[in-house]
Amino acid sequence: MKDVIAETTGQGPLVDPFGRAVTYLRVSVTDRCDFRCTYCMAETMQFLPKSEVLSLEEIERIASAFIRRGVRKVRLTGGEPLVRRGIVSLVDSLGRHLGRGLDELTLTTNGNQLAKHAEALATAGVRRVNVSLDTLDPDRFRRITRWGELPRVLDGIAAAKAAGLAIKINTVALRGINEDELGDMAAWCCREGHDLTFIETMPMGEVDEDRTDHYLPLSIVRAELAKRFTFRPTDYVTGGPARYVEVAETGRRIGFITPLTHNFCESCNRVRLTATGRLYMCLGQEDSADLRAAVRPSPSDADLDAAITEAITRKPKGHDFVIGRGQPRAAVPRHMSVTGG
Ligand code: SAM
Ligand code: SF4
Repeated sequence: MKDVIAETTGQGPLVDPFGRAVTYLRVSVTDRCDFRCTYCMAETMQFLPKSEVLSLEEIERIASAFIRRGVRKVRLTGGEPLVRRGIVSLVDSLGRHLGRGLDELTLTTNGNQLAKHAEALATAGVRRVNVSLDTLDPDRFRRITRWGELPRVLDGIAAAKAAGLAIKINTVALRGINEDELGDMAAWCCREGHDLTFIETMPMGEVDEDRTDHYLPLSIVRAELAKRFTFRPTDYVTGGPARYVEVAETGRRIGFITPLTHNFCESCNRVRLTATGRLYMCLGQEDSADLRAAVRPSPSDADLDAAITEAITRKPKGHDFVIGRGQPRAAVPRHMSVTGG
């Protein structure tokens, strides 16, 4: 009886048409960034006017509505989440849900502002962060990020570690750019005590180059790494899309996110909120719902709850990413920084 009431009032758990429970919300808190990674952004980007971006209070309200409906994990991302003014107060207010429905509050960051914020994030209840790092070579780092300085990011990672945060490094595998140092990255992560996830480059948004030139299937990366490390299977899962192996020599994990060589949609439990309040039910599809229109004019959450319920009925079965010669350079026109990686 309770479930029937919840369903009709739009307040029950979120289950999509394929029976997948939606328990993970990613929020892009800004489309802006203090780097310009070549595979992610063009050097010159048109960013959103501030009036279109959700206020921190609106983000909190929407995230809270999802938590009431069974979302147990929230990840703040972007753009670069740590360039959003007031980000720590948002983390603080979301942190109050921890242990009261929310199991985990986390961030994906480029690490550039991490030294400044690590302590406050830990105090607010963040226990681990993902830091994107594609190389340990300062010149390469500058080439990939265009504006970044490697030592500053390494300082950020050290500060996060000192604050007690667990760190997972995200590395995009790029043919001809970092493919020769992926084994060294894995060894460094093992030494430093970080988990590591490799990612295939995805065709999202036009950038200044053709991603096909640097697309490196992780099947190749994995085979190369297996010459240096012994991989043991593990059933470790984080609620994210990575599949993990354990490195026998060190006991640490390496994850592989393979949207192109192995589609992971069948176990998808997540939805993504953009900085303007559009809810994307799939990273690789264009359909979205406008939650800002439900939240901005209305102090009551009834419209928001109804909009969320309706959106989840439209969650598609999966994405259709393909990368290669003869394919459009961008499968979806949105950059990863808009929807939040
Ligand atoms: N700025 C933060 C960062 O870099 O960690 C958070 C946002 S960024 C869009 C999130 C992740 O998406 C990063 O790990 C980045 O390397 C990855 N990414 C960006 N564009 C991508 C693309 N086209 N294909 C695969 N991964 C991408
Ligand atoms: Fe910025 Fe992250 Fe995109 Fe790099 S990957 S440009 S750090 S949003």
